[in-house]
Amino acid sequence: MAGTVHVIGAGLAGLSAAVEMAGAGRRVVLHEAAGFAGGRCRSYYDSVIDLVIDNGNHLLLSGNWAALGLLRRIGGLSAMQAAESAEFPFADLASGERWTLRPNEGRLPWWILDSRRRVPGTRAPDYLAPLGVLRAPESVAVGSVMVCRGALYERLWRPVLLAALNTEPCEADARLAAQILRETLAAGGQACRPLVATGGLTAAFIDPALRFLKERGAEILFSQSLRAIDFQEDRAAALRFANDTVALRAADQVVLAVPPVAARGLVPGLTAPEKFHAIVNAHFRIPPPPGQPLLLGVVNALTEWLFAYPDRLSVTISCADRLMDEPREKLAETIWREVAVLTGLAPDLPRWQIVRERRATFAATPEEAAKRPATETRYRNLVLAGDWTRTGLPATIEGSVRSGLNAAAAVIRAPDWAGRSRDAA
Ligand SMILES: Cc1cc2nc3c(=O)[nH]c(=O)nc-3n(C[C@H](O)[C@H](O)[C@H](O)COP(=O)(O)OP(=O)(O)OC[C@H]3O[C@@H](n4cnc5c(N)ncnc54)[C@H](O)[C@@H]3O)c2cc1C
Repeated sequence: MAGTVHVIGAGLAGLSAAVEMAGAGRRVVLHEAAGFAGGRCRSYYDSVIDLVIDNGNHLLLSGNWAALGLLRRIGGLSAMQAAESAEFPFADLASGERWTLRPNEGRLPWWILDSRRRVPGTRAPDYLAPLGVLRAPESVAVGSVMVCRGALYERLWRPVLLAALNTEPCEADARLAAQILRETLAAGGQACRPLVATGGLTAAFIDPALRFLKERGAEILFSQSLRAIDFQEDRAAALRFANDTVALRAADQVVLAVPPVAARGLVPGLTAPEKFHAIVNAHFRIPPPPGQPLLLGVVNALTEWLFAYPDRLSVTISCADRLMDEPREKLAETIWREVAVLTGLAPDLPRWQIVRERRATFAATPEEAAKRPATETRYRNLVLAGDWTRTGLPATIEGSVRSGLNAAAAVIRAPDWAGRSRDAA
């Protein structure tokens, strides 16, 4: 008989693995250190601006098949606001120029030949610049295979890659950048329609996933921080929590879906990324003006992306390590001055909140990417999940959901305690 699967960590990776396995009829126990699920992708009530906000603005694209598959399965898709077509309005705060990036639906990028659809100041041949990235060998930086300057770089490649990689693109791993380009612009507009959880990440992802799991008999335990794993030869033998030890029976399995720092402390000899980059979000309690797009890309400004939620305007700044020690009031004032210009709203600072996630994602450099471990470990009943495992994608919702699917697949196909493969049985 199949044993229990203990999933450690209720971020998107752990939830994705748990949903997949509970959906396949496995008995799942989910252990989460915090008093809530969602990890780096969740909503919370913020008393400073008296609103439920997300820890960070999260953008999905229509080509994110794993994330959308999860949302469909758990019933969270209706909580996402999807743009009808792949349109990305942009503003250049220095020159005042505005344009809209509109890739055509199919894979053949004929939009590049239409000057009205191109980024202003660019020519069709400029769009071939990332070919070097698409053909890059392993462990090289984008900057060594693509020229990281010029109008198109500043107005298209840098904003897109910076948002996806949370790393200055010229220093980022070219293979990771290539995968982003393949799954987005190179896949055509059909893969690039933006989706935002305007009702909150918890309403879209977390609550429906927990409901799905409960309905399938999964046990969900909060405030259960895993302190250590006892190993015996090639298997995990016990899970030591602060107040409890769970002995693992022969058929039990473990999905470790915690961040890399925690995983390194729990699994001897594990290599994992050790460098991280921050993301800063500034939330302003003010309804967006009529006609404000769901998402506005901004160049030549501190603001990189401006999200319009029904009750607030919210700014994302990636790879924001340089802003960690800036005084919060100064940051809020500077960003609001930019938002006021971009939206035409009055310069008076509304109620605001600044959320700084210091370790938002691992640094997507060739050095850190090389440290990402595979799903399977040297222990036969322990697999890994998390946006930092070797998914082929940078640290994103899509990457973390795929890592959970990989972990679930490894658990489901693992031979059982008697050495027989359940698939074959
Ligand atoms: C501000 C911000 C903005 C982002 N924007 C985007 C975006 O626009 N688009 C996008 O696709 N991605 C975005 N991301 C990335 C995305 O949020 C992450 O890739 C994803 O949420 C990671 O999920 P995870 O499950 O791998 O890790 P985590 O969310 O970190 O989950 C790990 C879980 O393990 C728990 N845990 C830790 N230690 C233990 C322990 N010892 N015992 C038990 N539990 C433990 C933690 O509490 C946590 O719940 C953003 C991230 C941030 C921070």
